[in-house]
Amino acid sequence: MSAVLWPVTAHIVVALNAANGTGEHESAMRLMKVTEEAGEATAAYIGMTGQNPRKGTTHTRADVADELCDVIIAAAVALHAFSAAPPAVLDAKLHAAARRLHAHDLSTELPL
Ligand SMILES: [Mg+2]
Repeated sequence: MSAVLWPVTAHIVVALNAANGTGEHESAMRLMKVTEEAGEATAAYIGMTGQNPRKGTTHTRADVADELCDVIIAAAVALHAFSAAPPAVLDAKLHAAARRLHAHDLSTELPL
């Protein structure tokens, strides 16, 4: 996990709070932003494959990666609206995923 994810997203949250407030509508908008960015990642993937013959190949793998980063950032920002301790919530989730992987493959040692 990037060391700057939480400081930067906390800064974004402060800026959004100042501009838009912190009500339920704003929380819903931040949640919807995750889906918007996921759609952009999908659009970049479609553009990377040239699936639409009218448009041709319009994107690269780097474009898809860039949009996936936007998804991660948007999700981290939105998580602030639903948790008082977003880093701890994500850490717990990652550790739970690692434990599940470890349980399925006892021969693998995972750094926990
Ligand atoms: Mg984007």
